[in-house]
Amino acid sequence: MTRPFNFSPGPATLPPEVLQQAADEMLDWQGCGMSVMEMSHRGPEFLSILTQARDAVRELLSVPPEFQILFMQGGGLAENAIVPMNLLGATRADQAVNFVLTGSWSQKSYKEAQRYGAVHVAASNQASQQTTLPPPSEWALSPQAAYVHICSNETIDGVEFQELPDLLSLGCDAPLVVDISSHMASRPIDWARVGLAFGGAQKNVGTAGVTLVFVHESLLGYALPICPSAFNLQTVAQNASMYNTPPTYAIYIAGLVFKWLNQQTHNGLVGLAAVEARNIEKAQLLYDCIDHTPFYENKVDPSCRSRMNVPFFLRDARLNDHFLAEAKAAGLLQLKGHKSVGGMRASLYNAMPVAGVQALVNHMQDFAQRHG
Ligand code: PMP
Repeated sequence: MTRPFNFSPGPATLPPEVLQQAADEMLDWQGCGMSVMEMSHRGPEFLSILTQARDAVRELLSVPPEFQILFMQGGGLAENAIVPMNLLGATRADQAVNFVLTGSWSQKSYKEAQRYGAVHVAASNQASQQTTLPPPSEWALSPQAAYVHICSNETIDGVEFQELPDLLSLGCDAPLVVDISSHMASRPIDWARVGLAFGGAQKNVGTAGVTLVFVHESLLGYALPICPSAFNLQTVAQNASMYNTPPTYAIYIAGLVFKWLNQQTHNGLVGLAAVEARNIEKAQLLYDCIDHTPFYENKVDPSCRSRMNVPFFLRDARLNDHFLAEAKAAGLLQLKGHKSVGGMRASLYNAMPVAGVQALVNHMQDFAQRHG
């Protein structure tokens, strides 16, 4: 069976091998007579699934031992409240949370944090209409900020940090909080620069329903009294993500994806290095097509273009519906841009093969030739 290529921004395409394994194990997981959906989360079968998923993501992303890996619920949006509720009880937190605003998702985080404490905008790319990233050397950071929040890949605007900021070298010793929702496990993370990172699984590493939180142990234990126990990171960590019933099936699928990612090879590379190299290749292929075909345009500065989410516009917006209909007929799905931006958006997450991007490029060139 050949499947179409699915460019959805999330929930998004999954590796066919993972879907096939889930299908094979649907009625009876490894001979135990139960589906993963039917198991007690406290039984030995699910405990082994959870442990394997946690170990596989630690290996994949080289997560240091001083970071807890939590499997939570509520998605990235719930983390916008969970993070301030958990960090603003620290003594340093009489200072404002510093936000770097680079697009729709960091704006959302900023608005939500205001419900829990003082906030300060350290930098913004609003003047460029979200097509650049403000250089860290120009951020107006409070030296004693409660924490500094960035969204390292803006899913809607298509801007991505190619490197995480080194706050210490900028004279700020606050923890860095990073929303990695839309490029998790697509590239390595420099953990020395991170205090907490979070993201839902449904783009790069699985299905909706589970949120990954990577938190440095030194940040646990400072929750505000209003923080619900089920969202208290220390409580979740002490209970190994089993304080309440975790999203068992979503964790199972994420575990299969982590295993798949660890096994990837590309040009002699293995695991995350292979995944990253393939992501670079895919993004290059699509941006080259856009930049060399006057029929299309991407407005983001090349220095901060996202490898994962590529918004692009047809010069003649009246052809948008026609482009989408022909793309769908050619087996290229979910390319419509976000309603706030318009145009098209191709999301090239980990499970999108190079062949999928090549098929998109072929369609774009063919369409441009016929309508240009
Ligand atoms: N942050 C980013 C960067 C996102 O792309 C998204 C979802 N598109 C969210 C946060 C919100 O995640 P969720 O829908 O899982 O709450």
